[in-house]
Amino acid sequence: MSNIDFNKSHINFKPTAALREPTELVAHGLVSVADLSDLEKVAARYAVAVTPAVAALIDPDDPNDPIARQFIPSAEELVTGESENADPIGDYPHSPVAGIVHRYPDRALFKLVHVCAVYCRFCFRREMVGPGKGTALSEGAYDNALAYIRAHPEIWEVILTGGDPLMLSPRRLAEIMADLAGIDHVRIIRIHTRVPVAEPQRISAEMIAALKVEGATTWVALHANHARELTGNARAACADIIDAGIPMVSQSVLLRGVNDNAAALEALMRAFVECRIKPYYLHHGDLAPGTSHLRLSLEEGQALVRALLGRVSGLCQPIYVVDIPGGHGKAPVGPVYAARAGDGWQIEDWRGKSHHYADPAAEAKDKP
Ligand code: SF4
Repeated sequence: MSNIDFNKSHINFKPTAALREPTELVAHGLVSVADLSDLEKVAARYAVAVTPAVAALIDPDDPNDPIARQFIPSAEELVTGESENADPIGDYPHSPVAGIVHRYPDRALFKLVHVCAVYCRFCFRREMVGPGKGTALSEGAYDNALAYIRAHPEIWEVILTGGDPLMLSPRRLAEIMADLAGIDHVRIIRIHTRVPVAEPQRISAEMIAALKVEGATTWVALHANHARELTGNARAACADIIDAGIPMVSQSVLLRGVNDNAAALEALMRAFVECRIKPYYLHHGDLAPGTSHLRLSLEEGQALVRALLGRVSGLCQPIYVVDIPGGHGKAPVGPVYAARAGDGWQIEDWRGKSHHYADPAAEAKDKP
């Protein structure tokens, strides 16, 4: 423990650098001193970082603040559920060389860095990201990973992912983008990031220039889980990316106490679309260790997605997916609206009313 004075009058609610120690969270009024001992244990196992942009969004007087719930460690993380494991989506079985996960034929993950601007308490790679959890790829490992992509002409899309690739310097990112775009069959480079929300000032003109590359199309996938994350600065950072001609999609995780009600999900999806970000994935919480307090049941998730369909247009609809443990990939698990009924179907409308659909094309196909 450091010698921070926890007297309330000394609390500074506005940090100027990322908060990484539980003592700093106490000093900034984000957790209670009574929780410090448990949180030191959590922080010894899972990385902690709360950037000034994220800290500014937290209401320290709200014990249920949806932003705090995503980033402020909790003693509940010390409990590992029976089905939880260190590699919940099965990266390791599909990693042919360091830095690459090749799960589906036409795309591969390229994990360049092991650090992020913030550390999400529900992170599916929490045993792999953060200081002390790994190292950036060595030059040799980077060359091997590139050689693997080069040797696999079926790889059409390369996904730069977690840690957060936008933690790289613009100069290094530009080199990597050029290396990838120099491989003929790599047509798409997708970058998964939380930086526009967590540290929007990193989205500089140099960073945006690094994202654009001759020979491949760049997409950026923004990870955000609550509409409040899309602040004016975050929106401006995304607008800069999109105005440069780089399309954006979203990814979110369904989280208890963050977005586990239809109004919160609706606000989040509307905020994405207002920012010209197409909602893409809504992930069911992965079985990462110490995250059961944040995970919903599949049935709850399906009910929320059904409610969303009744509230917003198709433009605002993400695909609700589960990453099947063991590395079997993503499967859509949204509610089903059509069921066989006699010769045709019963189809449910957005209000929940069921209607008969005769399916004339099937009838014609069945005729001799
Ligand atoms: S930004 Fe992504 S990789 Fe980093 S902690 Fe959050 S979920 Fe994990």
